[in-house]
Amino acid sequence: MTDFQEVIEKIARSLDSVEDRGTVASYIPELAQVDKNKFGIYVTDAANHGYGVGDADQGFSIQSISKALSVAQAFAILGDKLWQRVDVEPSGDPFNHLSLLEQENGIPRNPFINAGAIVVADVLFSHLDNPKKDFLSYVRNIANDESIDYDEKVAISEVKTGFKNIAAANLIKSFGNIENDVDDVLDFYFHQCSLKMSCRQLTHAFYFFMNGGKCQQGRKYLTSSQAKRINAIMLTCGFYDEAGEFAFEVGLPGKSGVGGGIVALLPNKFCAATWSPGLNAKGNSKLGMKALEQLTTLTGLSIF
Ligand code: GLN
Repeated sequence: MTDFQEVIEKIARSLDSVEDRGTVASYIPELAQVDKNKFGIYVTDAANHGYGVGDADQGFSIQSISKALSVAQAFAILGDKLWQRVDVEPSGDPFNHLSLLEQENGIPRNPFINAGAIVVADVLFSHLDNPKKDFLSYVRNIANDESIDYDEKVAISEVKTGFKNIAAANLIKSFGNIENDVDDVLDFYFHQCSLKMSCRQLTHAFYFFMNGGKCQQGRKYLTSSQAKRINAIMLTCGFYDEAGEFAFEVGLPGKSGVGGGIVALLPNKFCAATWSPGLNAKGNSKLGMKALEQLTTLTGLSIF
Protein backbone atom coordinates (compact mmCIF):
# COMPACT_ATOMS: atom_id res chain seq x y z
CA MET A 1 0.00 0.00 0.00
CA THR A 2 1.31 3.42 -0.93
CA ASP A 3 1.40 5.87 1.97
CA PHE A 4 0.20 8.90 0.00
CA GLN A 5 0.13 11.11 3.11
CA GLU A 6 3.80 10.55 3.82
CA VAL A 7 4.71 11.08 0.15
CA ILE A 8 2.81 14.33 -0.33
CA GLU A 9 4.16 15.75 2.93
CA LYS A 10 7.67 14.97 1.74
CA ILE A 11 6.94 16.68 -1.60
CA ALA A 12 5.51 19.76 0.11
CA ARG A 13 8.60 20.03 2.34
CA SER A 14 10.95 19.69 -0.61
CA LEU A 15 9.18 22.42 -2.59
CA ASP A 16 8.66 24.79 0.33
CA SER A 17 11.99 26.56 -0.16
CA VAL A 18 11.78 26.90 -3.96
CA GLU A 19 12.13 30.59 -4.76
CA ASP A 20 11.26 30.66 -8.45
CA ARG A 21 7.57 29.88 -8.41
CA GLY A 22 6.82 31.20 -11.89
CA THR A 23 4.44 34.02 -12.73
CA VAL A 24 0.79 34.40 -11.79
CA ALA A 25 -1.48 34.82 -14.86
CA SER A 26 -2.33 38.48 -15.27
CA TYR A 27 -4.10 38.55 -18.66
CA ILE A 28 -7.25 37.84 -16.65
CA PRO A 29 -6.88 40.75 -14.18
CA GLU A 30 -8.80 39.04 -11.38
CA LEU A 31 -6.32 36.12 -11.35
CA ALA A 32 -3.39 38.49 -10.79
CA GLN A 33 -4.67 39.10 -7.23
CA VAL A 34 -3.87 35.55 -6.08
CA ASP A 35 -1.02 34.94 -3.60
CA LYS A 36 1.82 33.15 -5.42
CA ASN A 37 2.89 31.34 -2.24
CA LYS A 38 -0.26 29.24 -2.01
CA PHE A 39 0.45 25.55 -2.40
CA GLY A 40 -1.70 22.46 -1.98
CA ILE A 41 -1.83 18.81 -2.97
CA TYR A 42 -4.72 16.39 -2.55
CA VAL A 43 -4.88 12.72 -3.52
CA THR A 44 -7.98 10.54 -3.61
CA ASP A 45 -7.26 6.86 -4.12
CA ALA A 46 -9.48 4.26 -5.79
CA ALA A 47 -10.75 3.12 -2.38
CA ASN A 48 -12.05 6.67 -1.75
CA HIS A 49 -9.43 7.55 0.85
CA GLY A 50 -8.26 11.15 0.77
CA TYR A 51 -4.86 12.67 1.63
CA GLY A 52 -4.12 16.39 1.74
CA VAL A 53 -1.37 18.86 2.48
CA GLY A 54 -1.06 22.67 2.48
CA ASP A 55 -3.84 24.75 0.89
CA ALA A 56 -5.63 21.67 -0.49
CA ASP A 57 -9.02 22.90 0.73
CA GLN A 58 -8.85 26.45 -0.57
CA GLY A 59 -10.92 27.19 -3.65
CA PHE A 60 -9.20 28.67 -6.72
CA SER A 61 -10.10 29.39 -10.32
CA ILE A 62 -9.92 26.06 -12.16
CA GLN A 63 -9.83 27.71 -15.62
CA SER A 64 -8.88 25.17 -18.33
CA ILE A 65 -9.23 22.21 -15.97
CA SER A 66 -12.96 22.73 -16.62
CA LYS A 67 -12.42 21.75 -20.27
CA ALA A 68 -12.08 18.06 -19.28
CA LEU A 69 -15.47 18.25 -17.56
CA SER A 70 -17.22 20.09 -20.39
CA VAL A 71 -15.90 17.70 -23.05
CA ALA A 72 -17.04 14.76 -20.90
CA GLN A 73 -20.55 16.17 -20.71
CA ALA A 74 -20.60 16.90 -24.47
CA PHE A 75 -19.23 13.41 -25.28
CA ALA A 76 -21.93 11.77 -23.15
CA ILE A 77 -24.60 13.78 -24.99
CA LEU A 78 -23.33 13.63 -28.59
CA GLY A 79 -21.26 10.44 -28.65
CA ASP A 80 -18.68 10.08 -31.43
CA LYS A 81 -20.37 12.79 -33.52
CA LEU A 82 -18.57 15.25 -31.25
CA TRP A 83 -15.31 14.51 -33.07
CA GLN A 84 -16.69 15.93 -36.31
CA ARG A 85 -16.70 19.32 -34.59
CA VAL A 86 -13.35 19.10 -32.78
CA ASP A 87 -10.31 16.90 -33.48
CA VAL A 88 -8.17 14.88 -31.03
CA GLU A 89 -4.65 15.76 -32.19
CA PRO A 90 -2.07 17.68 -30.15
CA SER A 91 -1.60 21.17 -31.56
CA GLY A 92 1.99 21.78 -30.47
CA ASP A 93 0.87 25.39 -30.06
CA PRO A 94 0.07 27.53 -27.02
CA PHE A 95 -3.47 27.21 -25.59
CA ASN A 96 -4.70 30.47 -27.09
CA HIS A 97 -3.29 30.24 -30.65
CA LEU A 98 -5.47 30.88 -33.67
CA SER A 99 -3.18 30.11 -36.62
CA LEU A 100 -4.13 26.43 -37.15
CA LEU A 101 -7.82 27.32 -37.05
CA GLU A 102 -7.58 29.25 -40.28
CA GLN A 103 -5.61 26.49 -42.04
CA GLU A 104 -7.92 23.75 -40.79
CA ASN A 105 -11.27 25.34 -41.63
CA GLY A 106 -12.39 26.18 -38.11
CA ILE A 107 -12.08 22.62 -36.74
CA PRO A 108 -9.93 23.03 -33.62
CA ARG A 109 -7.12 20.51 -33.12
CA ASN A 110 -8.43 19.26 -29.77
CA PRO A 111 -10.95 20.14 -27.03
CA PHE A 112 -8.30 21.46 -24.60
CA ILE A 113 -6.95 24.42 -26.53
CA ASN A 114 -9.25 27.41 -26.09
CA ALA A 115 -10.66 27.17 -29.63
CA GLY A 116 -11.65 23.54 -29.06
CA ALA A 117 -13.23 24.25 -25.69
CA ILE A 118 -15.24 27.09 -27.25
CA VAL A 119 -16.65 24.64 -29.84
CA VAL A 120 -17.47 22.21 -27.00
CA ALA A 121 -19.20 25.09 -25.17
CA ASP A 122 -21.24 25.70 -28.33
CA VAL A 123 -22.24 21.99 -28.47
CA LEU A 124 -23.38 22.15 -24.84
CA PHE A 125 -25.15 25.47 -25.46
CA SER A 126 -27.19 23.77 -28.21
CA HIS A 127 -28.11 20.76 -26.09
CA LEU A 128 -28.64 22.07 -22.54
CA ASP A 129 -31.88 23.86 -21.56
CA ASN A 130 -30.05 26.28 -19.31
CA PRO A 131 -26.33 25.89 -20.14
CA LYS A 132 -24.76 27.68 -17.15
CA LYS A 133 -27.13 26.12 -14.63
CA ASP A 134 -27.05 22.63 -16.17
CA PHE A 135 -23.25 22.50 -16.52
CA LEU A 136 -22.88 23.62 -12.89
CA SER A 137 -25.34 20.90 -11.79
CA TYR A 138 -23.34 18.34 -13.77
CA VAL A 139 -20.10 19.31 -11.99
CA ARG A 140 -21.82 19.37 -8.58
CA ASN A 141 -23.26 15.91 -9.25
CA ILE A 142 -20.05 14.24 -10.42
CA ALA A 143 -18.18 15.76 -7.45
CA ASN A 144 -21.13 15.13 -5.10
CA ASP A 145 -20.69 18.67 -3.79
CA GLU A 146 -23.40 21.35 -3.88
CA SER A 147 -21.02 24.06 -2.63
CA ILE A 148 -19.18 24.30 -5.99
CA ASP A 149 -19.98 27.52 -7.85
CA TYR A 150 -18.87 29.96 -10.53
CA ASP A 151 -16.75 32.94 -9.47
CA GLU A 152 -18.72 35.75 -11.07
CA LYS A 153 -15.87 38.28 -10.60
CA VAL A 154 -13.43 36.07 -12.53
CA ALA A 155 -15.98 35.41 -15.26
CA ILE A 156 -16.67 39.14 -15.72
CA SER A 157 -12.96 39.92 -15.64
CA GLU A 158 -12.47 37.52 -18.56
CA VAL A 159 -15.52 38.73 -20.50
CA LYS A 160 -13.88 42.17 -20.46
CA THR A 161 -10.38 41.04 -21.48
CA GLY A 162 -10.80 37.81 -23.45
CA PHE A 163 -9.95 39.35 -26.82
CA LYS A 164 -8.15 36.31 -28.23
CA ASN A 165 -11.06 34.06 -27.31
CA ILE A 166 -13.45 36.54 -28.91
CA ALA A 167 -11.30 36.46 -32.05
CA ALA A 168 -11.13 32.64 -32.05
CA ALA A 169 -14.89 32.29 -31.61
CA ASN A 170 -15.60 34.67 -34.48
CA LEU A 171 -13.10 32.89 -36.75
CA ILE A 172 -14.71 29.52 -35.95
CA LYS A 173 -18.16 31.02 -36.53
CA SER A 174 -17.02 32.25 -39.96
CA PHE A 175 -16.34 28.60 -40.89
CA GLY A 176 -19.79 27.57 -39.61
CA ASN A 177 -18.49 25.53 -36.64
CA ILE A 178 -20.36 27.60 -34.03
CA GLU A 179 -24.15 27.28 -34.11
CA ASN A 180 -25.14 29.82 -31.48
CA ASP A 181 -24.59 33.50 -30.89
CA VAL A 182 -20.85 34.07 -30.28
CA ASP A 183 -21.40 36.29 -27.21
CA ASP A 184 -23.69 33.70 -25.60
CA VAL A 185 -21.21 30.89 -26.21
CA LEU A 186 -18.31 32.95 -24.83
CA ASP A 187 -20.30 34.00 -21.76
CA PHE A 188 -20.91 30.29 -21.07
CA TYR A 189 -17.25 29.39 -21.77
CA PHE A 190 -15.93 32.13 -19.45
CA HIS A 191 -18.28 31.02 -16.66
CA GLN A 192 -17.20 27.42 -17.07
CA CYS A 193 -13.55 28.51 -16.70
CA SER A 194 -14.39 30.61 -13.63
CA LEU A 195 -15.50 27.60 -11.55
CA LYS A 196 -13.96 27.85 -8.11
CA MET A 197 -12.84 24.54 -6.63
CA SER A 198 -10.22 23.20 -4.22
CA CYS A 199 -7.71 20.40 -4.88
CA ARG A 200 -9.88 18.08 -2.78
CA GLN A 201 -13.01 18.90 -4.80
CA LEU A 202 -11.11 18.46 -8.08
CA THR A 203 -10.02 14.94 -7.18
CA HIS A 204 -13.67 14.13 -6.39
CA ALA A 205 -14.82 15.58 -9.72
CA PHE A 206 -12.14 13.77 -11.73
CA TYR A 207 -12.66 10.45 -9.92
CA PHE A 208 -14.92 9.19 -12.73
CA PHE A 209 -12.12 9.55 -15.30
CA MET A 210 -9.97 7.35 -13.05
CA ASN A 211 -12.81 4.89 -12.42
CA GLY A 212 -14.05 3.86 -15.88
CA GLY A 213 -16.69 6.61 -15.99
CA LYS A 214 -18.23 6.00 -12.54
CA CYS A 215 -18.12 8.70 -9.82
CA GLN A 216 -17.32 8.02 -6.16
CA GLN A 217 -20.99 7.33 -5.46
CA GLY A 218 -21.10 4.72 -8.24
CA ARG A 219 -23.16 6.75 -10.75
CA LYS A 220 -22.04 6.26 -14.35
CA TYR A 221 -21.39 9.42 -16.40
CA LEU A 222 -19.29 7.95 -19.23
CA THR A 223 -18.83 4.46 -20.64
CA SER A 224 -15.43 3.01 -19.80
CA SER A 225 -14.47 3.42 -23.46
CA GLN A 226 -15.41 7.12 -23.34
CA ALA A 227 -13.42 7.61 -20.10
CA LYS A 228 -10.44 5.94 -21.78
CA ARG A 229 -10.72 8.32 -24.72
CA ILE A 230 -10.87 11.47 -22.60
CA ASN A 231 -7.86 10.24 -20.60
CA ALA A 232 -6.00 9.74 -23.89
CA ILE A 233 -6.75 13.33 -24.92
CA MET A 234 -5.61 14.54 -21.48
CA LEU A 235 -2.31 12.70 -21.95
CA THR A 236 -1.67 13.99 -25.48
CA CYS A 237 -3.20 17.49 -25.26
CA GLY A 238 -3.85 18.37 -21.59
CA PHE A 239 -0.81 20.64 -21.32
CA TYR A 240 -0.84 22.17 -24.82
CA ASP A 241 2.68 22.63 -26.17
CA GLU A 242 4.03 21.09 -22.96
CA ALA A 243 2.05 17.82 -23.20
CA GLY A 244 5.17 15.91 -24.21
CA GLU A 245 7.13 17.34 -21.29
CA PHE A 246 4.34 16.46 -18.82
CA ALA A 247 4.16 12.87 -20.13
CA PHE A 248 7.97 12.68 -19.95
CA GLU A 249 8.26 14.09 -16.41
CA VAL A 250 5.04 12.84 -14.80
CA GLY A 251 3.67 10.05 -16.99
CA LEU A 252 -0.04 10.55 -16.28
CA PRO A 253 -3.04 11.96 -18.14
CA GLY A 254 -3.92 15.33 -16.68
CA LYS A 255 -5.27 18.81 -17.21
CA SER A 256 -3.90 22.18 -16.17
CA GLY A 257 -5.41 25.64 -15.83
CA VAL A 258 -3.97 29.16 -15.72
CA GLY A 259 -5.32 29.49 -12.16
CA GLY A 260 -2.34 27.28 -11.24
CA GLY A 261 -4.20 24.02 -10.74
CA ILE A 262 -3.36 20.62 -12.23
CA VAL A 263 -5.32 17.39 -11.95
CA ALA A 264 -3.71 14.10 -12.98
CA LEU A 265 -4.83 10.51 -12.61
CA LEU A 266 -3.74 6.92 -12.85
CA PRO A 267 -6.68 4.76 -13.99
CA ASN A 268 -8.00 2.51 -11.19
CA LYS A 269 -5.40 3.80 -8.74
CA PHE A 270 -5.58 7.48 -7.78
CA CYS A 271 -6.43 11.00 -8.77
CA ALA A 272 -4.21 13.89 -7.63
CA ALA A 273 -4.68 17.66 -7.74
CA THR A 274 -2.09 20.34 -7.08
CA TRP A 275 -2.38 24.10 -6.76
CA SER A 276 0.46 26.61 -7.01
CA PRO A 277 -0.56 29.81 -8.84
CA GLY A 278 2.82 30.64 -10.41
CA LEU A 279 2.98 29.48 -14.04
CA ASN A 280 5.84 28.60 -16.37
CA ALA A 281 6.18 30.06 -19.87
CA LYS A 282 3.70 27.52 -21.29
CA GLY A 283 0.96 28.53 -18.84
CA ASN A 284 1.23 25.45 -16.62
CA SER A 285 1.84 25.57 -12.86
CA LYS A 286 5.57 25.48 -12.24
CA LEU A 287 5.55 23.82 -8.81
CA GLY A 288 2.51 21.71 -9.65
CA MET A 289 4.45 19.95 -12.40
CA LYS A 290 7.41 19.42 -10.06
CA ALA A 291 5.13 18.05 -7.34
CA LEU A 292 3.48 15.57 -9.70
CA GLU A 293 6.85 14.50 -11.10
CA GLN A 294 7.91 13.69 -7.53
CA LEU A 295 4.63 11.92 -6.81
CA THR A 296 5.01 9.44 -9.67
CA THR A 297 8.77 9.03 -9.12
CA LEU A 298 8.53 8.46 -5.35
CA THR A 299 5.57 6.06 -5.60
CA GLY A 300 6.57 4.37 -8.85
CA LEU A 301 2.96 4.84 -9.97
CA SER A 302 2.48 6.12 -13.52
CA ILE A 303 0.98 4.75 -16.73
CA PHE A 304 4.44 3.83 -17.97
N1 GLN B 1 -10.14 30.97 -19.41
C1 GLN B 1 -8.80 30.88 -19.88
C2 GLN B 1 -8.71 31.38 -21.31
O1 GLN B 1 -9.62 31.18 -22.05
C3 GLN B 1 -8.36 29.45 -19.79
C4 GLN B 1 -6.94 29.24 -20.24
C5 GLN B 1 -6.19 28.19 -19.47
O2 GLN B 1 -6.47 27.88 -18.32
N2 GLN B 1 -5.15 27.68 -20.08
O3 GLN B 1 -7.76 31.99 -21.72
